[in-house]
Order: sequence, then structure tokens, then C-alpha cells
Amino acid sequence: MAVPAWELDDFDAVDELLASIGVTAAERDWRRRAACRGHDTAAFFPLRGEPIDDARAMCRACPVRVECLEYALDESGDPLGVWGGTSQRQRRAARRHGWSAAELIAKLDARQYSEAEK
Ligand code: SF4
Repeated sequence: MAVPAWELDDFDAVDELLASIGVTAAERDWRRRAACRGHDTAAFFPLRGEPIDDARAMCRACPVRVECLEYALDESGDPLGVWGGTSQRQRRAARRHGWSAAELIAKLDARQYSEAEK
């Protein structure tokens, strides 16, 4: 499913939309500090089989990586794309194993990618 560009590139529009559905300012704040803010979002929403190395590299240096991944793990529909440097497959594995965002990040940073996908 393609994500309309305005949904991701227009930060104020996204912020307003989230506020309108009850997401608090505190819950929205981490997005303002996101390393990917203002960058081309294509790398974060790859087509099937495309590499996500560029997105992962930006996520590894992002100051709100844990918050971003917590958001994605809390979403019942599992959002598309790269969040906190993880793929949907890795997030599914985290849910199955009961790992927190911080635990999944620690496993990935320790290069346990294959373990994190089982
Ligand atoms: S962790 Fe990655 S996807 Fe999440 S806000 Fe930071 S750069 Fe963006």
C-alpha cells in the first residue's frame, strides 16, 4: 500500500491529524526530534525485496529510535515500512517473543538479525 507523500512530508498536517484523533502532545513530541524528519521517505517504505540499509543507518543514529519502535509495536495494524530500524518481520518476531522495543533494538545492534527474525 502506497503512503501518500503529503502524509509523511507535511509534518504539521500529520501533527494536526494525530491531535485530532486524540494523540497527546507528549506522545507526538518524539516525531519532532526524528532523524528522518524532512528526509525523503522512500527509503523507509521499500517495495518488496528492496534493501532497507539506508533507512536502518539513519535509524541507528536517531535520538528517538526507541520511541519510534514502541509506537510501531503498539500499533495493532503493524504499520508498513521501517520503524526504529526494524522491518515488519522483525517486529512480528518481537511481538511473538514478547520483546520490548529496547530489547529488539539491543538484539539488532548486537547483530542478532537472524535470531530476531525467527
Ligand atoms: S527511528 Fe528511524 S524511522 Fe523512527 S523516527 Fe528515527 S529515523 Fe525515523
